[in-house]
Amino acid sequence: MAAMQSKDQKTTHEVLFVGTDTDRRRQFETECKTQIGRRHFVTTTEDAATLLKQRVIDLLVLDLESFTRPTHVRSLGELMGLRSGMETLALCPASAAAWLLDLMPHGLKHYCLSPYLSAELTRRVQDMTLKVDAFDMTQRLDDRGDIVDLNATWLDAMGYTIDEVIGTPFEDYVNPESRRAVQQALITTHTNRRTETVVCQLRRKDGSILDVALNGVATYNTHGEHLQTRCELRGVNYFLADKLKSESLLQVERELKVLLLVRSKLQQALMGIKDVNELSFLMCQELRKCPGIVGVAFLHKDANDVMQLDACMSRDDQDRVSFVKGCEDMLQLSRGKSLGVLSALMQGEFVIADSLAKIGGQRDLRFFHAMGVRTIVGTPIVAESIMFDEAAKTLGALCLMLDRRHNFPREWLEVMADLGALASFGLNIIEWGHEKADLMRQLRDMAMTDTLTGAANRRSANEFMQREYAHSQKEGLPFTLIMMDVDKFKRINDTYGHEQGDQVLKAITRAAKDLLRGSDLLVRWGGEEFLVVAPNTDAADGFALAENIRLAIEKTPIEGCHNVSVSMGVSLIAAGKSIEDALGRADAALYRAKETGRNRCIMAEDKLPPEATTTT
Ligand code: GH3
Ligand code: MG
Ligand code: MG
Repeated sequence: MAAMQSKDQKTTHEVLFVGTDTDRRRQFETECKTQIGRRHFVTTTEDAATLLKQRVIDLLVLDLESFTRPTHVRSLGELMGLRSGMETLALCPASAAAWLLDLMPHGLKHYCLSPYLSAELTRRVQDMTLKVDAFDMTQRLDDRGDIVDLNATWLDAMGYTIDEVIGTPFEDYVNPESRRAVQQALITTHTNRRTETVVCQLRRKDGSILDVALNGVATYNTHGEHLQTRCELRGVNYFLADKLKSESLLQVERELKVLLLVRSKLQQALMGIKDVNELSFLMCQELRKCPGIVGVAFLHKDANDVMQLDACMSRDDQDRVSFVKGCEDMLQLSRGKSLGVLSALMQGEFVIADSLAKIGGQRDLRFFHAMGVRTIVGTPIVAESIMFDEAAKTLGALCLMLDRRHNFPREWLEVMADLGALASFGLNIIEWGHEKADLMRQLRDMAMTDTLTGAANRRSANEFMQREYAHSQKEGLPFTLIMMDVDKFKRINDTYGHEQGDQVLKAITRAAKDLLRGSDLLVRWGGEEFLVVAPNTDAADGFALAENIRLAIEKTPIEGCHNVSVSMGVSLIAAGKSIEDALGRADAALYRAKETGRNRCIMAEDKLPPEATTTT
């Protein structure tokens, strides 16, 4: 294989690097020295486009960190359009993997994620340029196995001239160790007309070894006599890379199917989601079954906008405690000041860290190392914005921990970004659910309360009294009603205005409510008339409560108004008697309070000792 990368072949790759950062440019140059021949460096997409139109560039390298996504996605996409299928390598910040989602529809397949680890670039560029290194050597052999014809690639690769080769046995060029295999292959070709691929070694003129994959096809004339055997010899690197590539593509395809299945399952389940816990549990539970996933973490911002771990699950649920701790540690790490991959995730970026080394030290992520996590993909969960100008708000993040270091294909990345969108959708559904419940509560409250004062209205008071009445009758508990009317309210209106009158009603409501227990209810019975419903309260306590309210109102300073007072009638619901009866008696007591000078409380039927009745 080493022989294939002879000097003259190395220099054939023409590389164009587009980017402004000299350090990264230099790093790229250093790491990929041996694979690239002529190199061009430009800083703008315009210059790159000009060059691409003038020269055949084998490899285009885009340093995405030199560009800003919203402004440059289009021009970079157009640049790739000029490539017509030639390879492009994107150097992408791990903290802005959304670039990949943008550029892949333009044909981008290969990328490296920053910070670029040593040899990572070399490796990637090597993989990509193998295709150029590959060669298709063709030869035709007669039935003795002598070479009768061959192509220029054969001569180039082997280092011979045509005259040296024609008429000589092919076997002479085969490394002795491979001879038997080649002989066998040629015999099979004669009998079966076609060989399986045989990997063998050829010996070049300079003595070096060349690995090739040999395929033979034998042709016969109409009488069934062998005419010749045509052999295709391909660079074995290329062959193997191709084979590996198609195998890994199949694998990716298989895994993608599972991922898509899980996604649609989640999609269906989302509709019935009630709360965040249910959502995060469901997502972790389903996603950890996906191929390659060793763990899933669902992060969600709390009321203080701080990202918290909502749920996390590992593939086999082993070592649960350590895994949770590992996730907590990672979260802690992300809160650090450095603007690394994780902090970018917290800020709502789609991130891919294809090595734990790109996140933190061995020590920080000890547990993930032990678990075999190689890649962490983080997809943000954002609030659905209804307004066009509203910036998307990050609600949380979904972290997928994978046991491999893929160069993810477009479909994979899209599904992973989709999962974040699904989680966002789930959260929004939950929020809408809460909002709907809030709205219903508000509507209910509106139907039950008086809009001016906020006291209960007559309708809700009736419901409340019925309920409490039934209870008190059943349990034999006392139940008191207090009827209250503002004194000379007409005069207040006339003197200070209707608006001021409204303020008085509000102030009275506040003062009275302050003195009530949670079990009591203040009702605006109508106009300037109020009712206090006091369950589990006997006559003495009821009267005392009325007195307290009366005194409180008398003392409450009301801006722009003087001498506001109320009169009250208090009645106890007697055993076996109706609410209406008690209301009537309270009303009568109130009437007496008015008659006897106002700003006073009177107990119905005057059953209280005389000192309990007050006068002004
Ligand atoms: P009394 O001491 O005998 O109760 O005298 P009063 O003036 O309070 O009695 P009256 O029933 O004659 O007057 C009640 C007044 O309350 C008449 C009405 O205009 C006023 N009123 C009723 N509802 C409201 C309201 O919502 N806001 C305001 N500002 N006034 C109201
Ligand atoms: Mg009144
Ligand atoms: Mg009145």
